[in-house]
Amino acid sequence: MPIELSAPKLTVTVLGSGTSQGVPMIGCRCPVCQSTDPRDKRTRSSIYLEAPQGNILVDTTPDLRQQALREGLDHLDAVFFTHPHADHIMGFDDLRRFCDIQGGPLDIYGSAETLGQLERIFFYAFKPKTLVPGYVHVLPHIITEPFEFGGIEVTPLPVPHGAVSTLGFLFSRAGRKLLAYLSDCAAVPEPIRALIAGVEVLIIDGLRDKPHPTHLTVSAAAEVAQAVGARRTFITHLTHEKTHVDRQRDLPAGVDVAYDGMKLEFEL
Ligand SMILES: [Zn+2]
Ligand SMILES: [Zn+2]
Ligand SMILES: [Zn+2]
Repeated sequence: MPIELSAPKLTVTVLGSGTSQGVPMIGCRCPVCQSTDPRDKRTRSSIYLEAPQGNILVDTTPDLRQQALREGLDHLDAVFFTHPHADHIMGFDDLRRFCDIQGGPLDIYGSAETLGQLERIFFYAFKPKTLVPGYVHVLPHIITEPFEFGGIEVTPLPVPHGAVSTLGFLFSRAGRKLLAYLSDCAAVPEPIRALIAGVEVLIIDGLRDKPHPTHLTVSAAAEVAQAVGARRTFITHLTHEKTHVDRQRDLPAGVDVAYDGMKLEFEL
């Protein structure tokens, strides 16, 4: 455990804010995909938390390697998974580099369903017969209830997302609800709204304006933000439907568009 020399804080970095195909999309010549605004370059959705006593990565997107290089990540204490869709897990093998640097396995956390799918796809990482340097090796932990990690209380927030359920996460400390991260959800049920009521920052799925069967629209995400009384809200998991600037113009006060590389700092 590192010794805390300064006041403890929680730093959150948005590693990616794009939908499953990313923005720009391969082969698309629309104005958004051709935008030169760096905020219109959206890698697949993920966040990274530097908690007082540990670094947490949420999801291993297909863009994990580029995200880690861009943000200078070199040490992870845990990886939390929201759900087993390809855009949230397909960078899993790049965890190998962290295992190599740290000289041991990585603790990963998720629902039984998500960890089961990860073990099916990346079987070699779960029970290696021999530990080979340079390969990924993980220790799975099924999340069923709130737990403490890195000096932060973590509350799982199951939300519907079509055929699968996504785990959102509420990060709290000493009774303060600091951050709720709700990636990929079609709705936010009442019990989950109650858990995150009054949260300081909400980062929430708002795919686009056009309705989608498994994702919130931007206006539905803003409605959740208002209903739970989030002090600040950032929309994530966005498509190429609008530019960052055009999207931001439509939003109510207190609701903003997330972008890759965005950082939030909480004094604890
Ligand atoms: Zn997704
Ligand atoms: Zn496009
Ligand atoms: Zn998904």
